Amino acid sequence: KRIDIIPVFHHILDRFEMNKTELIHFDRKIPNERIFVWVDQDKITQVTDNIMSNAIKYSPEGGKITFQVVKEAHRLRVSISDQGLGIDREKVEKIFERFYRVDKARSRELGGTGLGLAISKEIIEAHHGQIWASSKEGKGTTIYFTLPLTKRKRGSRK
Ligand code: ATP
Ligand code: MG
Repeated sequence: KRIDIIPVFHHILDRFEMNKTELIHFDRKIPNERIFVWVDQDKITQVTDNIMSNAIKYSPEGGKITFQVVKEAHRLRVSISDQGLGIDREKVEKIFERFYRVDKARSRELGGTGLGLAISKEIIEAHHGQIWASSKEGKGTTIYFTLPLTKRKRGSRK
């Protein structure tokens, strides 16, 4: 369906803010306009939930999570940045593989199966978007994803 995605993101972030127990600060950099994308809303919610719960899981106490939405020429770019422990260079590409978890011992303590990002990647690619990560060990991680913008034809109502 063609939907305005901005309220969807606010709704997801509201839910995380309501439920958070950790001392984590959320920073929203979301444009105040209507941005239409052609998506399965439940699936995009699942992707955003996965990335947000990782950001929280791997954040230090008192850390900040920045949720940014940028409207580019033909696509929407979302980025979710944390100030957590980060991922080293050789491993950052692998986090989208099924069952891959950086530092088994550390991850085991924090729980999870290593499927969240692999599923997110499948969903984003099915929407003709891209997903990638950039990370600096000790500084934090940013996960990006894009979604194509829908162009509304003149005169058409749907
Ligand atoms: P699941 O999502 O299935 O509960 P998971 O969180 O371990 O388990 P993914 O979400 O696929 O699995 O992430 C894969 C691995 O990538 C994680 O185990 C973790 O090592 C690393 N990772 C993901 N996000 C971050 C992040 N924000 N900071 C640091 N490491 C991360
Ligand atoms: Mg996860």
